[in-house]
Amino acid sequence: MSSSTASEKETTLETEAKAIDLLKTLVGFDTTSYKSNLELIEFIQSYLKNYGIQSTLVYDESGKKANLYATIGRTDIGGIMLSGHTDVVPVAGQDWNTNPFCLTESDDKLYGRGSADMKGFIASVLSRVPDMLSANISKPIHLAFSYDEEVGCVGVQRLLDLMEHQPIKPSCCIVGEPTSMKVVIGHKGKYARRVNVKGHTCHSGQSPFGVNAIDYAAELIVYIRQLAREKEKNGPFDKDYEVPYTTLHTGIVQGGTVLNIVPNFCQFDFEIRHLYEEDPQHLLDKIEAYTRHLETEMRSISADTGFDFETLATYPGLLTDPGIEFVSYVKQLLDNGAHSKVAFGTEGGLFQKRLGIPTLVCGPGNIDQAHKANEFISLEQLQIGGKFLDCLIQSLN
Ligand SMILES: [Zn+2]
Repeated sequence: MSSSTASEKETTLETEAKAIDLLKTLVGFDTTSYKSNLELIEFIQSYLKNYGIQSTLVYDESGKKANLYATIGRTDIGGIMLSGHTDVVPVAGQDWNTNPFCLTESDDKLYGRGSADMKGFIASVLSRVPDMLSANISKPIHLAFSYDEEVGCVGVQRLLDLMEHQPIKPSCCIVGEPTSMKVVIGHKGKYARRVNVKGHTCHSGQSPFGVNAIDYAAELIVYIRQLAREKEKNGPFDKDYEVPYTTLHTGIVQGGTVLNIVPNFCQFDFEIRHLYEEDPQHLLDKIEAYTRHLETEMRSISADTGFDFETLATYPGLLTDPGIEFVSYVKQLLDNGAHSKVAFGTEGGLFQKRLGIPTLVCGPGNIDQAHKANEFISLEQLQIGGKFLDCLIQSLN
């Protein structure tokens, strides 16, 4: 082994150790989506500042959460954006063997909430910041770290509002969600809606004089189920997905107090996960048309009854042409020519749809470990992810 290879190896080991150390710090901040992410964001901001990199924080209305955006290198050309979310899903009700907010190493795995989804990627990126600076990269690398991704890609929208007006936008984007470092070119879009059903109460013995909110909610839920069956039967289909068609599903129902009262309120949440090429509006239109049909009957009993819809979250699907140069370039860096589509959503569809930035998803860790008790990222995945970043930086020399 030549001495330069040995010293290169030593540097890599140092960087790996740094990535783990950073991951430990990031996991230590409890950034469950409903909590503030500011301590974590301010940590990253000051970390970058130590290397002379300025970052912009884009806050939410409350000022308790923020996105961070920073550019390393030139500002007069596009470059590559590395994107990740800083929030994590709750640990409540999960049976963890370790403290989820204290990164714990065991059997070559690093356990902690967010280790795979997706603080491992962020830690890896941050550990490479000194290399990005010393490599004198010819194209810039942009860092985009968001909040409130896990509640439906909500937080990043404010960052997009800002980026929309920038004269020069990143020319491509890698979302580092856990894909076991495989190239993902597509995912479905999502519409999550809450339905409030207002009925009219009375004694259950006089139920025909009331408007039973649960019954009408149930009729609509069954109708949604019927639409789901139609999609399963008639498509459209995209065979690249495990579930190759648009799905509809109701996840939560609440209503009623006691059995002998006709309930005057019922609330339920449903979602549509649609193929990129399918506009879900026609499904939403059908659902709303069906409620008008039900309302005619409801209002013949009591005028002040009916349905009311709230949008909980919505994000577009992602579909990147696998034939474009950016996809080939990333595949080449990974030395793996394969690509796929995944069942989970990311902010990637928004970058593509709102900013027109060619985007793919590729990051360390396995989605199977995300959102569960004892979430982990393997040391191997962290290393492979880090190596990819090293190749990416070198390629920008
Ligand atoms: Zn995620």
